[in-house]
Amino acid sequence: MSLKDLELIRQRHISLRSQRSIWMMRVQDEILSSMRDFLRADGFIEMLAPIVGPVTDPGSGGLRQASINYYGLELKLMSSIIFHKQMVIPLTPKVFALSPNVRLEPLESIRTRRHLVEFKQMDVEQANASYEDVMKLMERMLQYVIKRVKSNRKKELQALNRELKVPSVPFKRYTYEEAIEILRSMGFKVRHEEIPWEAEEALSIAHEEPFWITNYPIRARAFYYLEHEDRPGFLKDFDLMYPEGYGEAASGGEREHRYEIAVERMRRMGEDPLRYGWYLEMLKVGIPPSAGFGIGIERLTRYVCGIRDIWEATPFPKVAGLISP
Ligand code: AMP
Ligand code: MG
Repeated sequence: MSLKDLELIRQRHISLRSQRSIWMMRVQDEILSSMRDFLRADGFIEMLAPIVGPVTDPGSGGLRQASINYYGLELKLMSSIIFHKQMVIPLTPKVFALSPNVRLEPLESIRTRRHLVEFKQMDVEQANASYEDVMKLMERMLQYVIKRVKSNRKKELQALNRELKVPSVPFKRYTYEEAIEILRSMGFKVRHEEIPWEAEEALSIAHEEPFWITNYPIRARAFYYLEHEDRPGFLKDFDLMYPEGYGEAASGGEREHRYEIAVERMRRMGEDPLRYGWYLEMLKVGIPPSAGFGIGIERLTRYVCGIRDIWEATPFPKVAGLISP
């Protein structure tokens, strides 16, 4: 991102007034309505997403959480609504929400062109589903969304100079181990961890269609992903990747819902179970197993519109360290 970009973000109340903004917003509107139509037609119901609470998704590190002063107590801004999706699953087996998330990403994240501090996920959860079930659901959803945008927002895509192909399903699948082998052959050094930003981008550049990376090692992910019973040390989880260098689209998987094992996993990740009050109480009472995912709306808009920097894929961008409207 250039200095000029930072100035445009800081002055978004002025820079927003461009043709590009309205083309982007019209595409984004079609993305949102087509996702909702797709999920409702599949039996999902939409719920309202929370914004604050005593606990939120720690990710694999927890450093990026933001807090607010809530009558003298510290509450978190949601970094994802995973715990609340699990709260609703006993009531309805298929649920989704458009969830606003805040993560205090490191300053270097400005370079990736795909990190915002405030972003939205379309968050989906299904009871008694396997990770492969929800992968199939997401493939069909992405295909549907792209078809709808191509037919209902043709002029906008043309104006944005974007040639977009409807992806064919099923998408290509790599396990994490296979992806690491490919990255090593490309000269990247990756250990058993989350795939670094540059490596993710390089792998994405090498593809022309969306693809999957499945079964991440347990240490790379938060405690709530379910460990694979046949492959100890690896998870029943996945990332969806966009092609053409756009990088990660979504993450998801099956959830650890058993109280004792969740506590054990928290301890292994260096998380203090005492800080997870209501969440652990809920697991103790019992919830059904589930699987789900969250797909970032700004990243999807960026990919669909062929926009270089993610800040242009939202009317009100917030990027690390910069104050903007
Ligand atoms: P995660 O829980 O980190 O896997 O995030 C789920 C999804 O949210 C990602 O796959 C992205 O689509 C989106 N996302 C996560 N972090 C950011 C960010 N800083 N800026 C924009 N989108 C994000
Ligand atoms: Mg992820």
